[in-house]
Amino acid sequence: MKKVLWFLFFCLACVASIWAEPASAVAKADVEQCAKEQKASFHWYPVQKTFNMISATDTIKFAVGLPYASMGSKSIALEMAPEISEGKIWIAANDVKKIFAPAAVSSSSVTIVSSSSATVVPLKPSSSSVAVASSTAVASSTAVAPPKNETAGTREVKTIVIDPGHGGKDSGALGVNAQEKDIVLTVGKLLKKELEKEGFNVKMTRDKDVFIELGQRANLANQWDGDLFISLHCNAVDATPERKKQIKGYHVYVLRAPESEEDKAIARRENKVATLYGEKNAKEELSPIEWFKLEARLEKYKQNSYMFTEELLKANEGYKIRKQAGGVGGAGFMVLVGALMPAVLYEIGFISNLEDEAYMMSDAGQKDIAERISKAVASYKEAVHNYRETLGR
Ligand SMILES: [Zn+2]
Repeated sequence: MKKVLWFLFFCLACVASIWAEPASAVAKADVEQCAKEQKASFHWYPVQKTFNMISATDTIKFAVGLPYASMGSKSIALEMAPEISEGKIWIAANDVKKIFAPAAVSSSSVTIVSSSSATVVPLKPSSSSVAVASSTAVASSTAVAPPKNETAGTREVKTIVIDPGHGGKDSGALGVNAQEKDIVLTVGKLLKKELEKEGFNVKMTRDKDVFIELGQRANLANQWDGDLFISLHCNAVDATPERKKQIKGYHVYVLRAPESEEDKAIARRENKVATLYGEKNAKEELSPIEWFKLEARLEKYKQNSYMFTEELLKANEGYKIRKQAGGVGGAGFMVLVGALMPAVLYEIGFISNLEDEAYMMSDAGQKDIAERISKAVASYKEAVHNYRETLGR
């Protein structure tokens, strides 16, 4: 009898232990261990909670909590979002197979979506010509052989798209004497003239006082197959007269995850028009997952956007409007999100500051601003050309 009781007890214990450790639906793998096995190096960024695995051929980027990884210009849907437990980072064992076994990657069981179609572009191109533009981008990113038509940023710089911000019912920021939409339009037109003198093919998203949606501006730039997109704006602060006196200067912005609250606030202000006037899919800020999905595509143009920014800082030496702080920032400007080319948003000065405003309103000031941007574009063209020569193109 005692033996039978012991046997029953043993059975119960077994059942309990099985229950206590339920079979997990997803088999998980320790990321660091995987990296070792794949002979990939592992980099962990604790603040962003992202990590990279760098193999001989690829850099694969992951983020804790996001069910996507990015590899080059591709975004890969993961079976399970990477998670942290017991001091380790885990990903699904199937995802490891998917990513590191090329044969598995091409099988139908695996979803690889092109970054362009997976990207949540809040202001998604809707016109058919733009759809063509993005599908060529997809083709070029997945093609094995290098594409015949070089993309913006790698080819010679010919077409410049000037985007004077705001317009029509959207006046932009208001100064005491001027409106943002008027200043940037005048500067934009002068810039066009300067650039044409230099032999560039120049397009403007607007050349009169009309309202154009943010998403439409990038669509136009893509249709024109631009090599550089320059969005012109005036900065502003809503503050006491004393603060308005202190805050002045120019700032060049590229599209990247914002690093400061100030940059975030400026992006929100410039994006507000989209939500204000009911633009489709409008939003003032990108979510972390949208940033992550966008990153692969941004990578293509980021270096060139910074190259141009550097040239603009150089051309602005001696500029009456001094640079504000470092002069360079990054945030989620919706007007830049859809542009398939190097792109910057240039806040030429603070309209809320009387001195900056006066300079931006004056004929001499506007001419000076346009000439400096034009000079920067010419130097940028030169820099891209020289870079191509070093590559033997
Ligand atoms: Zn603006």
